[in-house]
Amino acid sequence: MKIVCIGRNYAAHAHELSNAIPESPVFFMKPDTAMLLKNNPFFYPSFTRDLHYETEIVIKISKNGRHIEQDFAHRYYNEVSVGIDFTARDLQNNCKAKGLPWEIAKSFDQSAPVGTFIKLETLPDPENIHFWLDINHERKQTGTTLDMLFNFNQLIAYVSRFVTLRIGDFIFTGTPAGVGPTKIGDHFEAYIEDQKLLDFNVK
Ligand code: MG
Repeated sequence: MKIVCIGRNYAAHAHELSNAIPESPVFFMKPDTAMLLKNNPFFYPSFTRDLHYETEIVIKISKNGRHIEQDFAHRYYNEVSVGIDFTARDLQNNCKAKGLPWEIAKSFDQSAPVGTFIKLETLPDPENIHFWLDINHERKQTGTTLDMLFNFNQLIAYVSRFVTLRIGDFIFTGTPAGVGPTKIGDHFEAYIEDQKLLDFNVK
């Protein structure tokens, strides 16, 4: 399986990192070794001194497809969760400045903790999903998918023009504003609509 991550999908977050609003979705990938499941602890990597959390809604692909039409994209997923797109911001800024790819900053082992998946149909409004992150019981990030520049169906249509999507793939759909640093000892708890789906410690 693979993890497709969308960048700059919330205008307020693009602004906070001084990035332009994209005209089409921006995406990159993390390998399956980036997955961190079952609330296992995250170990702060030794190669960064500025590790940031980005809290994102994650959709799970339920059907294989390529060149998926936007109108049919809803048939390709039915479960969502919340995940953290861990980013070594110092390495990423260095890569950006040099025009280099971002993998060392984004795709390292354990860089994608993902919570328990829930059925989309159980949510009050699948087009307006509220989610948030608490660290050490303090609210750090909140978002709603209504603010996404490109919705789930647009993302699936765009990504599948280039990359075949397979059952079990994850799509991280971008972070709202409010990203920030983390440190050893932090306790992460992430929610969708009052349901805590992700709970882990940084060691
Ligand atoms: Mg992200």
